[in-house]
Amino acid sequence: MDSDSDAIGFNSPFLIGSELEYVRTAFQNHHASGDGPFTKRCAALLKAALENATVLLTPSCTAALEMAAILLNIKPGDEVIVPSFTFVSTVNAFVLRGATPVFCDIRPDTMNMDESRLEDLITARTRAILPVHYAGIGCEMEAIAPIAARHGVPIVEDNAHGLFGQYRSKPLGTFGRMATLSFHETKNFSCGEGGALIVNDPELIERALIIRDKGTNRQQFFRGQVDKYTWVDLGSSYVLSDLLAATLLAQLEAREQIMSKRRAIWNRYDQGLREWSKSVGVTCPTVPDHCEHANHMYYLVLNSLDERQQLIQHLRNLRITAAFHYTPLHLSRMGLATGRQPARCPVTERISDCLVRLPFYYDLSLDDVDRVVDAVRSLFTSSTHG
Ligand SMILES: *Cc1c(COP(=O)(O)O)cnc(C)c1O
Repeated sequence: MDSDSDAIGFNSPFLIGSELEYVRTAFQNHHASGDGPFTKRCAALLKAALENATVLLTPSCTAALEMAAILLNIKPGDEVIVPSFTFVSTVNAFVLRGATPVFCDIRPDTMNMDESRLEDLITARTRAILPVHYAGIGCEMEAIAPIAARHGVPIVEDNAHGLFGQYRSKPLGTFGRMATLSFHETKNFSCGEGGALIVNDPELIERALIIRDKGTNRQQFFRGQVDKYTWVDLGSSYVLSDLLAATLLAQLEAREQIMSKRRAIWNRYDQGLREWSKSVGVTCPTVPDHCEHANHMYYLVLNSLDERQQLIQHLRNLRITAAFHYTPLHLSRMGLATGRQPARCPVTERISDCLVRLPFYYDLSLDDVDRVVDAVRSLFTSSTHG
């Protein structure tokens, strides 16, 4: 038990109820490694939610992105277009195969890849476009998809934040040739560490199964298609343990309950902060009307780095943990060493300095949300702010 009983953390893992019973069942099934009964049930549930896509559970979103890079045969000299404002793995997975990152700036409203800048970044060497649905709010796929199609470049959606979100009534994760999910502790649905590769192009499925199974055709062996299995392609250990799939299934089955609690938290923040924010020049999240978002996070954009740091410190003094987010990848050591130059992403740089994420997790009470709201507002009425 936390001795700091009135402290409000930024994130906290939660139990929805049936996780431990399911893990016990997994042991009783004598199947703790990958691709057991719980993996199959998670995959079936996600398939039904994602327009019949093939869903392969992986140990992380990072692993799923690495699989995507292998599946696209990424090699040295190939370029991949990624937002600079994202998690390292979105791009590192491709740089592992030798790709050159081409960093795209973001829109100042949704923090998503700025589709108006995309086409200028495409060259004859572009091999993938990686939209990230930041905060579970869909990128402008209506603009991005035709640009990608016109140039014959596949899209891989990094949907770590946005499972069950929609863009124009179509599920996030169903727009790209592939998409990835994360079930890390900080995400909406979690088994501690976990992820998935969503394969929307049936032609990629067979090879995806091989890559996920250490480069072997063991799946074909299990199906009786070959009489022994062997090393046939690149691959790695990209299978999720059924113990973790059991944990994950419990949460996925409770998705309505989890999503409605998260929606309540998001709405409570929004009710407490949106009107007020206008009076102090702070910005709340923009959710376009055509996006049904996944209620992954609530953030504020302050007016300067100083002001953002003041708010984080002010909340810390009130025993509330708030967090900044991504630092610009185009300015990181690896981004500078590997990225195509010049990379100009001024919006990313400003947002990276000015954005702060408020506490957000399933077990957060609405009373605690109110406490955070009051705490945020109090900075701007206290005499120390200036
Ligand atoms: C969390 C996250 C990842 C990485 O997820 P893991 O499951 O921890 O590998 C990748 N991309 C984005 C946008 C994320 O938020």
